[in-house]
Amino acid sequence: MDDAHPGALSAPAVPLGPGPVARPLFTDVDAPDYDNVLACIRCGLCLSVCPTYSTDHLEVQSPRGRVALIRAVEEGRLPLESPGFKEHMYHCLDCRACQTICPSGVRVGELVVAARAEIDKREPQPWLERILKRVILRWLLLRPERVEWAMVPLRLYQRIGLQRLVRSTRLLGRLPGRLGVLGFMEELLPRLPGRPLRQELAEVTPARGERRYRVGFFLGCVMNVVYAEVSRATVNVLTENGCEVVTPKAQRCCGAPHAAEGDTRSLRALARHNVDLFEQWDLDYVVADCAACAAQTKEYAHLLRDEPNYRDRAIAFSRKVRDITELLAEIPLKSPTESVPVRVTYHEACHLCHAQGVRRQPRKVIKQIPGIEFVELKESDWCCGSAGIYNITHPERASRILERKLKNIAATEADIVLTGNPGCLLQLDAGVRRAGIRSRVLHPTQLLDAAYRAGKAAGKRE
Ligand code: SF4
Ligand code: SF4
Repeated sequence: MDDAHPGALSAPAVPLGPGPVARPLFTDVDAPDYDNVLACIRCGLCLSVCPTYSTDHLEVQSPRGRVALIRAVEEGRLPLESPGFKEHMYHCLDCRACQTICPSGVRVGELVVAARAEIDKREPQPWLERILKRVILRWLLLRPERVEWAMVPLRLYQRIGLQRLVRSTRLLGRLPGRLGVLGFMEELLPRLPGRPLRQELAEVTPARGERRYRVGFFLGCVMNVVYAEVSRATVNVLTENGCEVVTPKAQRCCGAPHAAEGDTRSLRALARHNVDLFEQWDLDYVVADCAACAAQTKEYAHLLRDEPNYRDRAIAFSRKVRDITELLAEIPLKSPTESVPVRVTYHEACHLCHAQGVRRQPRKVIKQIPGIEFVELKESDWCCGSAGIYNITHPERASRILERKLKNIAATEADIVLTGNPGCLLQLDAGVRRAGIRSRVLHPTQLLDAAYRAGKAAGKRE
């Protein structure tokens, strides 16, 4: 005990270590924010919400541990290339649950992603990883038409019946070693649409009835080529709510995959392009039905803060961005008239609840659908393990995280699980199929669209 302060412990539970340094190692604009690193008071509150800590029970796999590692590298006490540093940075899901709970405002997810950018810049990568990253991030994902072409062989694979054969023989699951990941990736693949939505959707879709708003639609890469029917439903819901929907054909990836992999150069180029493009239309809002796209485009203001040509325009752009449920709650939603008698639960995408703080609005919108029985999902804001491409790069870890989510979903006995992010849709859909859970996994706009359609069909019958 401290005599001057009775009740105080003579030593902190976690040693506080050396004092801060005047010149941290990373100083460029994308580097981890050293002041924010120093804000960590090592209270450990974040440990209870971190999925990687809950599966490993290792300090280095916790938010507090990751911040301590970044600080050690910044202060020159740990070499950037030391074994384990890269691994612990890449084992983070960037789910940002730790940011929601942290009393000191430490943005751990952002610090980790910034540390990855430093690793990417300073450390030599294995040649295969380097080439793959370059091809995917700096070529494929820079143009939507390239992503669309890349999906053609997969569509063919499904249409000629090869997928049925592969699934019935469980061929890919028997591949040895790291090739086993192909089986897991195959399992994730849902039925692909006949055509990407970008090719079908008019650049301007008029509002039904009186126009109340003019809304730019940020059509995410995955939504465009994998979940075209979801984004079609989103456009229907928007027009039903008096929105004229502008979907610029020349829009490009939001940059979320680039941010996650530390490719800030491509990320900035994409952000500038999208700001230039959307500001040509006189828009009230920019809306996305992909939580990751909305989260990333809201960050353009911060990303381009040091570019005089873009700073104010990026702020104006980011201020207009809304997740679809956020917008519907705000304008507000026209309630469907027909009853949809289903039991529904809701999984919160990390990029919606933790990165954007959007929690109340999706529930409000879902509960406005007449006839539904809404049941809360235990740990609804706990990551499902998808986390961008984490389920592909770390399939075993992602599966362990998913198991916890599936147990909670099964306990709800819901007919439908709603979630607002394509990564979660893929992960949960594959998960419920594998676990034999009878729930369907849908986006909230699909259920809303179905409710509006049911109302119209009933109106015609009367
Ligand atoms: S909750 Fe915040 S301050 Fe506390 S240990 Fe975690 S990161 Fe540090
Ligand atoms: S972002 Fe998620 S996985 Fe990463 S440290 Fe925070 S809680 Fe853990």
